[in-house]
Amino acid sequence: MSRLINTLISQGYLKSDALIDAFNTIRREEFIPDEFITEADTNIPLPIGYGQTISQPLTVAVMLELLDLQSGQKVLDVGSGSGWSSALMASAVGEDGLVIAVERIPELHDFGKKNIDKFGFVSMRRVKCVLGDGTQGYAAGAPYDRILVSASSDEIPEAYKKQLAVGGKMVLPIYNSLAYVEKRSEDDFYIERFPGFVFVPLVENSSLN
Ligand code: SAH
Repeated sequence: MSRLINTLISQGYLKSDALIDAFNTIRREEFIPDEFITEADTNIPLPIGYGQTISQPLTVAVMLELLDLQSGQKVLDVGSGSGWSSALMASAVGEDGLVIAVERIPELHDFGKKNIDKFGFVSMRRVKCVLGDGTQGYAAGAPYDRILVSASSDEIPEAYKKQLAVGGKMVLPIYNSLAYVEKRSEDDFYIERFPGFVFVPLVENSSLN
């Protein structure tokens, strides 16, 4: 087990067996451009090109523990970037689960897909990589048991609330805090905020160029 993973466990960020197993198996170095590989086991975000980063491991651990992934679930991953979060979640939901990974930058969509398939998850159809704008979620795959968003917006997009299944959970950055959302009924959402995180912004297609 890497020193970083040990630290995340001993500091109480990584807790569940499924996630500890996922972090050990789905190694971060497989999702990082060659020039930064030596930094893979460092607890910092790293550049993946196009002004984007692979998230800090501590942040990913917090988000995924909050998400409380279970076997067989269907998950939407908005802003899949390097593919690390998608592959970690595919590991956690097991072979009967499905992760839909949406990324808007074509080169990162390709990079992420290639990285995720190092573990066979694309060919086994455990991860479906979609190129597109995820600000409206991905209606074709809804409803989702879980939604993870890795780029921040000003408020919780209505589309995500709609596409989340009743009983489902969602974790997303709002400004520089994390929001944890539980959909208790069609119009009852329990929301908790955790401050102190930094994310790249969720960019709508209309703001391209
Ligand atoms: N989960 C990723 C984090 C990458 S950073 C990982 O593990 O590597 C956030 C990503 O969100 C970036 O790749 C960025 O291009 C993407 N993104 C930003 N706005 C988006 C949008 N509207 N739709 C889809 N992806 C978006």
